Amino acid sequence: MSSISLLDLKAQFETIREDIQAAAMRVLESGAYIMGSEVKALEEEVAAFCGVKHAIGVGNGTDALLLALKAQGIGAGDEVITTPFTFFATAEVIAELGATPVFVDIDPKTYNIDVKKIEAKITAKTKAIIPVHIFGQPADMDQIMEIAEKHHLFVLEDAAQAMGSTYQDKRIGNLGHAATFSFFPTKNLGGYGDGGMIVTNDDQLADTIRILRVHGSYPKKYYHNMLGYNSRLDALQAAMLRVKLPYLDQWNDARRQRAERYNQLLADTPLVTPFAAEQRKHIYHLYIVQAEERDELMAYLKEQGVSTGIYYPLPLHLQEVFKHLEYAEGSMPHAERAALRTFAIPLYPELSFDVMEQVANAIKTFYKGRI
Ligand SMILES: *Cc1c(COP(=O)(O)O)cnc(C)c1O
Repeated sequence: MSSISLLDLKAQFETIREDIQAAAMRVLESGAYIMGSEVKALEEEVAAFCGVKHAIGVGNGTDALLLALKAQGIGAGDEVITTPFTFFATAEVIAELGATPVFVDIDPKTYNIDVKKIEAKITAKTKAIIPVHIFGQPADMDQIMEIAEKHHLFVLEDAAQAMGSTYQDKRIGNLGHAATFSFFPTKNLGGYGDGGMIVTNDDQLADTIRILRVHGSYPKKYYHNMLGYNSRLDALQAAMLRVKLPYLDQWNDARRQRAERYNQLLADTPLVTPFAAEQRKHIYHLYIVQAEERDELMAYLKEQGVSTGIYYPLPLHLQEVFKHLEYAEGSMPHAERAALRTFAIPLYPELSFDVMEQVANAIKTFYKGRI
């Protein structure tokens, strides 16, 4: 039995092999391996892509969040509101800076933060909101910005999963006060190693982030005005990402096409397929479905050679490391329910429609056997 993987990074590489090799060779022969002209060029291209003034390349998507919060002055005694249904890094960086993550439950349809529940969690200590555009679908940014304006809060979009998506025809990255991207290989714009970027229209925030990423010493080397980090972007990654960026929209459209096909193929199964909210472009970083009998179905699909994955099995408010925050089980019912029922099935731009039919047929066979 042939096996079907959740994602096939090599398939994408094969479509751009020569250009990636040429970009890598250009850097190897240049002798400049960290930051430099390739990083600057990628920053300019990403800024233009998002329609923002500044893009700052950093070591990874986690550092992008960390540096943006740090540059905004978030630290001990502050509270930052976010979602419990996201990759750990979103809340990790808040706590890493000595601030407290404050979780707000999700909307059960989109899996994004439930904007109706945000205001009740705002206190005198609240400094920022981090909406996560989870699985590639933008959060309700209009409502979030309205709340933020009313309470003078900083909004940092965690757009690690949503580069290229739009909200009311505006690019993600151009909606909050700043946004962060990850170039981890599995992301919609993935490099061949780690990388990340912050985008913002705020001149001062951008300046501070540029200083923070090089030990607090920019622009004059070896003179330090603050404590920073070592979080630079490699020239190799930047050069290879510059090859990939022009394809991002077409790859995202290919994901959308495949998601629509799955929606049709799975329509007469008990699976709950993804909900696409209005006035925004869902770019399906992951194609997430819900099943009451998830674990049995996943085990069956594994037997049939179909890979699946759980994103994420334990919501952040219930993580051991956040025990001291004293969130009870049942306090975020929608996030907890999603963690028990949702999983991803294979989806990537190069996935063939034939293979998608095989996946759908395996799911249908599972349910037939149960009636
Ligand atoms: C991947 C991801 C990150 C972290 O990015 P890295 O580049 O792996 O550090 C942060 N937030 C979300 C939502 C992510 O999916």
